[in-house]
Amino acid sequence: MKKTATNYQVSSIGDIQTLGRATLKDRLALTGSEISVNELPAGASVPFVHSHKRNEEVYIILKGKGQFYIDGEEFAVEEGDVVRVDRAGARCLKAGDQTAIRYLCIQTEANSLIQFTQGDGVILEAKPSWLK
Ligand code: ZN
Repeated sequence: MKKTATNYQVSSIGDIQTLGRATLKDRLALTGSEISVNELPAGASVPFVHSHKRNEEVYIILKGKGQFYIDGEEFAVEEGDVVRVDRAGARCLKAGDQTAIRYLCIQTEANSLIQFTQGDGVILEAKPSWLK
């Protein structure tokens, strides 16, 4: 943990290429989601197919290419692609044979989102030094 204050935490995941996977729930004391940063080297696969009891997942491909398996379908993904998988979806992900893949996986409880963006944000009077 780099810094913990009343209303925020700052941490570092370190070198994800070496770690392979870093989860943020404990590092940041998350209360509404689990987020992982993942990297699979070329040719490597998550070693199992899984689903979830309560959580949907969003996969955000940050770098590289790979293959998704969901409910028996296989399809290619690459940098910039985003994939939502319902809790019941049977999923697996593999890096390309020649290309590593780096991705975020965000897990949240299905149907838990009540408000978001402008519906939840509150504009305040406080200003950082760069806002006039
Ligand atoms: Zn999962």
